[in-house]
Amino acid sequence: MNAPHAPDPSTAVRGEDGARGTDWARVRADFPLLDRRVHGKPLIYFDSANTGQKPAAVIETVDAFYRRHNANVSRAVHQLGSEATEAYENARRKLARFLNVRADELVLCSGTTFAINLVAYSWALPQLKPGDAILLTRMEHHANIVPWQLVAERTGAAIKVVELKPDGTLDLEMLHALMTPEVRLLALAHVSNVLGTVNPVREICREARRRGIVTLVDGSQAVPHRPVDVKAIGCDFYAFTGHKMCGPTGTGALWARKELLAAMPPFIGGGEMIKEVSFQGTVYNDAPYKFEAGTPNIAGFAGLAAAVDYLETLGMADIEAREQALLAHLTEELSGVEGLRIFGTAPEKAAVVSFLVEGAHAHDLATLLDLEGVAIRSGQHCAHPLLQWLGVAATCRASLAFYNTHEEVERFVAALRKVRKLLG
Ligand code: PMP
Repeated sequence: MNAPHAPDPSTAVRGEDGARGTDWARVRADFPLLDRRVHGKPLIYFDSANTGQKPAAVIETVDAFYRRHNANVSRAVHQLGSEATEAYENARRKLARFLNVRADELVLCSGTTFAINLVAYSWALPQLKPGDAILLTRMEHHANIVPWQLVAERTGAAIKVVELKPDGTLDLEMLHALMTPEVRLLALAHVSNVLGTVNPVREICREARRRGIVTLVDGSQAVPHRPVDVKAIGCDFYAFTGHKMCGPTGTGALWARKELLAAMPPFIGGGEMIKEVSFQGTVYNDAPYKFEAGTPNIAGFAGLAAAVDYLETLGMADIEAREQALLAHLTEELSGVEGLRIFGTAPEKAAVVSFLVEGAHAHDLATLLDLEGVAIRSGQHCAHPLLQWLGVAATCRASLAFYNTHEEVERFVAALRKVRKLLG
């Protein structure tokens, strides 16, 4: 199994792309897919906000699970059953340590979308009533809008929206003004998947808590890119997804305060989430198992545990520093492209750059860039209300990860200049 390439501390050099002087070229070599050619050109993968690439250590762990350990969790006394259960529970413990939370407060699930729906159906639906309000922000992903609309329709609760400042930061004055007594829940992104804005979630959650408002933070774009201490944030629910943090698709988790989990009814019923079933009634298992009906993605969670090991060995602070250096480089290079406009210029920003070039449609640019081997996303990025506010039909989005390189940044901008000429 390939270990990530944190340097020998005795030879470490301080550099802008990671305090310990990590050998990022060797780190990149851990990702087999990044060696690919696309349309005859070396791949430049700038779509990590969509899904992240996987290091060999994760791929090999999933492979080894199916080759050597495959069985169902907790349903068998045989050796393989114990190994599968251990692999799954190991992921829960590792994720809990990684985010500084208790393992028994972590519900494993298929990802952020499931996690938010779980809160919507198990916490909000039984609680909310006409006259209550749910507070969202303009920059939310559809996964943090549509579940609340479904709940609002069924409970009669209202939805209120906090708007943004021109640079893509949250209007905190408006946020505080909207934290009125009828607001029961505030649900917001830790980091925007379109603008890259990093929200001051710790301060926001403190303010909400003072006013008795329950908080849910969507950590999809934060956990893969920066150190996250959920306990320090002080929210009530924190949702994230495994596939953006070097892990397999179909993995993720919801963290929630123990007392909230204990009071919430199950969302999905079935095997594994019960203590006893009879036709007269069912006694549910304790949290978090109460919320984990059915056979989970066991191999996926074995892979996610390996992803956490991988990220921890590199160090999240160094990953953040590396990505910040790449972001600064990309932003500077793009600022030299005539007619290019960047959406989202918050002072604290993750390595996500949404942009448009005058006279060129976003989809045309992305299609021509694909022919140059460049993978970026174009469209509305599951954030229609944000695009409406920006007043554009679509944007291009280049999103980076620590495995990208400065050379790729330069090749990407050269390719962009080239295809732009083709579009006139
Ligand atoms: N929230 C944000 C901010 C996201 O970027 C994404 C993924 N694009 C999601 C939620 C949904 O995550 P998933 O599809 O893994 O459930």
